[in-house]
Amino acid sequence: MHPFKGFLCTSMSKSVQEDTLKHQGMRRKMIEELGRKDRFDPLVLEAMMKVPRHVFLDPIFVQQAYSDTAFQIGAQQTISHPSTVAYQTTQLNIKRGDKILEIGTGSGYQTCVLLELGAKVFTIERQRELYDVTSAFLPMMGYKPKFYYGDGYKGLPTFAPFDKILVTCGAPFVPEDLLQQLKVGGVLVIPVGEGKVQLMKRITRTGEQTFETEELKQFSFVPMLSSKA
Ligand code: SAH
Repeated sequence: MHPFKGFLCTSMSKSVQEDTLKHQGMRRKMIEELGRKDRFDPLVLEAMMKVPRHVFLDPIFVQQAYSDTAFQIGAQQTISHPSTVAYQTTQLNIKRGDKILEIGTGSGYQTCVLLELGAKVFTIERQRELYDVTSAFLPMMGYKPKFYYGDGYKGLPTFAPFDKILVTCGAPFVPEDLLQQLKVGGVLVIPVGEGKVQLMKRITRTGEQTFETEELKQFSFVPMLSSKA
């Protein structure tokens, strides 16, 4: 999927960074550790093995890139913990060809994992600088989602309905627009809660007017903010 030797994105600047055997070894180790931590979908872990997480961070943070930590990506935002990416993606139960809406493009790391699973991804970011950097950077790696600068609360009505919707920032409530943009049988994975802690919810649209909500684990995300666009 990514016929590249490597790039680096740090906020607004970029420089070349390779994906060496050493990086691949560190990545393998991280993925094995994730596999011991929780029961993640093996296909999700395989997809994560394909995405070089270190290229999303400055080269001096290579150790941290392959540990289970979140990281600053500029504009006061973070790239999620690898275990959080594995968790949310596992909950989505993605099938090849699924049409997915992601709220919170950020660094684009999670977007790449979705693409590696064979999904068609529409991704929205509200911070102009992150949108600009990531929408230029991912295609350089061969990853081509559809990028939108806008308000995740509204979703993308023009392209709805979606098989799956993923929210990667802490939402104060479940936006009605996102529920309405799910296919019947579709799934929304969203961390809900104000303040530091959110409860991950998995909401399935069981019929035109019916939804089933499962309450999962607690996480800590950066907040979902109202639109700047
Ligand atoms: N998936 C990202 C995680 C980024 S953190 C990654 O892998 O790097 C969450 C992101 O959500 C931030 O980039 C933040 O700017 C964005 N965000 C916050 N509120 C939003 C909104 N209302 N609409 C779209 N994006 C939003």
